[in-house]
Amino acid sequence: MISLRFDAVKEAFNRKAVQPEVPEGCSSEYFGKNVFDIEKMKKYLNADTVQAIQDSINNGTTLDRNLADEVAAGMMKWAIEMGATHYTHWFQPLTEGTAEKHDSFIDYDGHNVIENFSGKLLVQQESDASSFPNGGIRNTFEARGYTAWDTSSPAFVVDDTLCIPTIFISYTGESLDYKTPLLKSIQAVNKAATDVCGYFDSNVKRVNTYLGWEQEYFLVDESLYAVRPDLMLTDRTLMGHESAKNQQLEDHYFGAIPARVTAFMKDVETEGYKFGIPLKTRHNEVAPNQFEFAPIFGEANLANDQNQLIMTLMKKIASKHHFRVLLHEKPFAGVNGSGKHNNWSLGTDTGIGLFTPGKNEKENLQFITFLVNVLMAVYKNNALLKASVMTAQNEHRLGANEAPPAIISVFLGSQISQILDNLVDDTTSDEITLKDKRHICLGIANVPEVLLDNTDRNRTSPFAFTGNRFEFRAVGSSANCASAIIALNSVVAAQLTEFKKSVDYLISQGKRKEEAILEIVKQYIKESKPIRFDGNGYGDAWKEEAKKRGLDCNGSTPEVIDAYTSEQSLKIFEDMHIFTKKEVQARNEVKWEVYSKKIQIESRVLCDMAMNHIIPVASGYQSLLLEKVARMKLVFPADEAAKLSEQDLDLIKNIAAHIQLIKCESDAMTEARKIANGLTDGRTKAIAYHNNVLPYLNSIRNAIDALELVVDDGMWSLPKYRELLFIR
Ligand code: ADP
Ligand code: MG
Repeated sequence: MISLRFDAVKEAFNRKAVQPEVPEGCSSEYFGKNVFDIEKMKKYLNADTVQAIQDSINNGTTLDRNLADEVAAGMMKWAIEMGATHYTHWFQPLTEGTAEKHDSFIDYDGHNVIENFSGKLLVQQESDASSFPNGGIRNTFEARGYTAWDTSSPAFVVDDTLCIPTIFISYTGESLDYKTPLLKSIQAVNKAATDVCGYFDSNVKRVNTYLGWEQEYFLVDESLYAVRPDLMLTDRTLMGHESAKNQQLEDHYFGAIPARVTAFMKDVETEGYKFGIPLKTRHNEVAPNQFEFAPIFGEANLANDQNQLIMTLMKKIASKHHFRVLLHEKPFAGVNGSGKHNNWSLGTDTGIGLFTPGKNEKENLQFITFLVNVLMAVYKNNALLKASVMTAQNEHRLGANEAPPAIISVFLGSQISQILDNLVDDTTSDEITLKDKRHICLGIANVPEVLLDNTDRNRTSPFAFTGNRFEFRAVGSSANCASAIIALNSVVAAQLTEFKKSVDYLISQGKRKEEAILEIVKQYIKESKPIRFDGNGYGDAWKEEAKKRGLDCNGSTPEVIDAYTSEQSLKIFEDMHIFTKKEVQARNEVKWEVYSKKIQIESRVLCDMAMNHIIPVASGYQSLLLEKVARMKLVFPADEAAKLSEQDLDLIKNIAAHIQLIKCESDAMTEARKIANGLTDGRTKAIAYHNNVLPYLNSIRNAIDALELVVDDGMWSLPKYRELLFIR
């Protein structure tokens, strides 16, 4: 029998690191080389045009069509010098990853072929919206969609193609992508936060959203990957018994990075730098063969584009190193899954981080104000925030038995908790009388400066305050960060707006500004208390406790998604001008459809693997045992043969039982799939997939994993966990 597995293992095991290609000079010398940034604009465009673009970036003004022609010409000139022959509008539809359709620069000028790129083509293009997920919007309206240039994210050249970051909307203006609502949410939080900043500093004209993502991922050798149908088609292992050693010794986290992986990382970093992505950190993660990249944080829209780009680059560069990147949230059972921590903060155009403890009492009142508003927003909208990160993939990471639960809570750390509790504590609150300013100092200005270097960390918290930002850890590794940031910005914008209204009311009733702010802040601290949890988020006790506190504990993605269309969420989205009701409904349709399809594919792949790999191999081994038992009888007297064959007979029965179970469960799963497929309503179908199909994936897997333990290793045809996780 030929075993692809051992060929693959041998090939993978003997591989040497592939030399990374690093340009001469320091990283800073080629940083941003492939990006049409301000510096290049200054070289290829005239000064007024550059100014107009900068205005458009800073103030959201639309660019004059006449200027667009000049920008396009300059951009094309630069791109051609960079080796580009094509251009594309680069956008983020509601699928995973980005979309692009390349067009060549060539054109007829009436006589000859020339290179041409007009402002019209730069600014807006028509595309077929019906080919992308649109949640039924195309059924009621025209199928046409538009992509339109997002001036706040610079164009860049990948290989031979000029990529222009764009939004993607339907003919009737509904957003069909992540970027459009992200930009709107950045705008909403800017407005609401700037208004609140007005209480503290009238110089603040703009508040930016910042994002620093930490991208976790697994690497698997490509030869091993190629013989695992589940990895190839679903990005995760649908079977595989735990390796005897996995992460229990905690020897992988921050360990020495293996040579092949270092080479891969170096190439990703080098390419990333060329695209202006400030990759700062690289390290081994907790699970074997799990790693992480993190850049220096930046403005959220750009940072998110960069994350999209880096995921594409990682996949591309991995194959040069004979690796495959797994961005799936839970590629392996029994070891850590992969997240994409979204470090999120707000900062003013005057350079103040709104979650950074200040140097004087005014700054600290501002810090506490913003912190507490976030607490309140997360508390009131914990279900929506969870919905923003839940997918079929992330469901395996959040809510599966071995993983953190699907519950949103906030970790503040003991110092901040103490400060907030002191503020509302009746015995100390008397001291914070506003007539005596020094007493405010006691309550507010005492925010310890050590906070910034505070190592008071809680790695089990889905939403943690980490000194100058919040870390939204529940976000999945394959996700578009925008989904989480849109939800977060929307609820925070709505919360700040409400806060402003309440404070203004108190002021109109004759209260002093600081007094009014403190009063509402204290009220919020008390009200939002149930969202604060500094204990072990992975413990069973927390699930019970969270339920008592009234936090959303549902772990079923298709149902969690309902949070988007609750009255409360719709009001926020509409008030903050993020989504219309129709858009939210359409997007939910897309989510349900994707959910069902993902489970459907996994279910099919598992059936294939069970029937074509596992059962034949297990049966083959069973036949060998049967033959042995039969031969025993030829050599030994009957009762001695029976005695000697006892263990083998047990094993034969054991294998038979597992095979039987796998067959029955596979049939039942196929039946459940058929019933689910017959359902026409997207939500009902997704729930059927969750409740009636998904459980079989586990029960079948358990039987297969049990077989893996008893079947001859030499016959087992699929790479095992130890090979997938330890060969690098
Ligand atoms: P850790 O693993 O300890 O959480 P990392 O260094 O891996 O930290 O990642 C931290 C991320 O947070 C980086 O991307 C960093 O740039 C980002 N970050 C730091 N400060 C802020 C901030 N104020 N706002 C947003 N992101 C931030
Ligand atoms: Mg980290």
